[in-house]
Amino acid sequence: MDNCIFCRIVRGEVPSRKVFEDEDIFAFHDINPQAAVHFMIVPKTHIASLADCDMRQQMLLGKMLGLATQLAKSQGLDDGFRTIINTGRIGHQDVMHLHMHIAGGPQPLGAMLPRPR
Ligand code: 5GP
Ligand code: ZN
Repeated sequence: MDNCIFCRIVRGEVPSRKVFEDEDIFAFHDINPQAAVHFMIVPKTHIASLADCDMRQQMLLGKMLGLATQLAKSQGLDDGFRTIINTGRIGHQDVMHLHMHIAGGPQPLGAMLPRPR
């Protein structure tokens, strides 16, 4: 995908603060962090959204989750962290390249979703 921002980051055309890279996965810090530590884990291949995945992607999705723990610890998140995958319009997904947010820091994070009253 020529103009996808995360594909461009994966290819090194757009600079990022890299956390991790292997043949399948790229991880980098969010440009607009919402927590003391906030990075994203993305597949190198362009998949627009979790809504485009099915059991054919189970290895890749499992790898993203397995790396979440490994990379969170590598970033000092030893006492827990949050994983978020925003999906589609309802999930407020802004960048249409599948990504898992990892967020954490020294203090507990706020509520994930506003509670309905
Ligand atoms: P979404 O709302 O799609 O789940 O999250 C997209 C995330 O990508 C946002 O947190 C945003 O700050 C981050 N982001 C967007 N453009 C760039 C970029 O060019 N570089 C980096 N490092 N992060 C980006
Ligand atoms: Zn892409």
